[in-house]
Amino acid sequence: MSYPYDDQNIFAKILRGEIPSTPLMETEHTLAFSDIAPQAPHHVLVIPKGSYATYDHFALEASEAEIVDFTRVVGRIAAELGVQPGQGGTGFRLISNAGPDAIQEVPHMHVHLIAGRPLGRILPE
Ligand code: AMP
Repeated sequence: MSYPYDDQNIFAKILRGEIPSTPLMETEHTLAFSDIAPQAPHHVLVIPKGSYATYDHFALEASEAEIVDFTRVVGRIAAELGVQPGQGGTGFRLISNAGPDAIQEVPHMHVHLIAGRPLGRILPE
């Protein structure tokens, strides 16, 4: 299967250093930075450095090293923010929008880590 990827998307530009971001963590395969329009006190975007358009693209085609690195960064961000349930934190939500039904605005795979207030149910009732 061949996935399309538009390298002019805004996160690709952030990865190339063409536009600024507020980085929180960077590893060999992963970058975490603050969302420009936060929906909660903590709103972090975690992205792979590789050219993956959607979560399924990443999950199916990224190397195990990339997937492990990405997942560890998510965990380390939760730990750094102090939001881990059972570790003194009150929790967080991960969201990855993929495609038009989910209203994915930026076509570079990303996970939103949102925390710092009660977040309500996952979808409107
Ligand atoms: P999504 O709808 O899941 O594609 O979400 C894209 C997210 O990217 C939104 O929450 C935006 O606020 C965020 N965003 C867009 N441009 C930037 C930027 N230059 N720096 C940081 N976050 C951004």
